[in-house]
Amino acid sequence: MTATGTLHRIPVHPWRWVPWLLVSQALVALVWWQLGWKAGLPLLLASHALFLLPVFLPNSRFYAPVLARLPGPAVWLTIDDGPSDDTLAILDALDRHDARATFFMVGARAAARPELVREVLRRGHGLGNHSQSHPQARFWALGPRALAREIGDCQQVLAAIAGAPPRWYRSVVGMTNPFVAAALHRHGLARVGWSARGFDGVGCTPETVVARIAGGLVPGAIVLLHEGAAHGHNVAIVEAVLRQLQARGLRARLPLETA
Ligand SMILES: [Zn+2]
Repeated sequence: MTATGTLHRIPVHPWRWVPWLLVSQALVALVWWQLGWKAGLPLLLASHALFLLPVFLPNSRFYAPVLARLPGPAVWLTIDDGPSDDTLAILDALDRHDARATFFMVGARAAARPELVREVLRRGHGLGNHSQSHPQARFWALGPRALAREIGDCQQVLAAIAGAPPRWYRSVVGMTNPFVAAALHRHGLARVGWSARGFDGVGCTPETVVARIAGGLVPGAIVLLHEGAAHGHNVAIVEAVLRQLQARGLRARLPLETA
């Protein structure tokens, strides 16, 4: 198998979980019927937890394969949620450090600022699909049609601007619900998780975020970064991570490039 084949894993059987769900619920019904609610109810709750938990585990392979680490010495910087007012400053920082990154973009934001998408590509970086509207509160619970639209519309927007569709996908807030795999299968997308993140949400400071990421900056790391957050620290965080990489002798490269 080629390196591309092993890293870029498109879900082959996106509905594999369905028979397991049916079998598990038939088993619950059987136990409830034979042994009563004292056995049936805990088993029902446990079986639901089994199918619900992987939705919230960013690197769980239960519903779809996920790439969470790379072989080789390079580090993959992944920057979610753009394009944004930070994009150009981040591109300049990447240039100064001779670093490459993949920008996981939100389709609606890309459609509004296509010139930023083109600039990302012109400077040698990659594009990924991060949904059309980034519905972060309800992404985990979207039904099959809404989910297919989120991924399909983003794919269409980015393909129209870039001339080719993205090949990588990142779930909104890392959540992968049961219908993600079918959309990835349809569009030839491979899901990307991460091995290092700084929890750069509300109220963070660049120092605390970089301190949390720093331990994970090792060969083969996939680093989760963001742009355009209201706290305004994203550019400083990317710059600090780039400095850390340089200090450790690590190169930021795209996964299928030779380092
Ligand atoms: Zn996001």
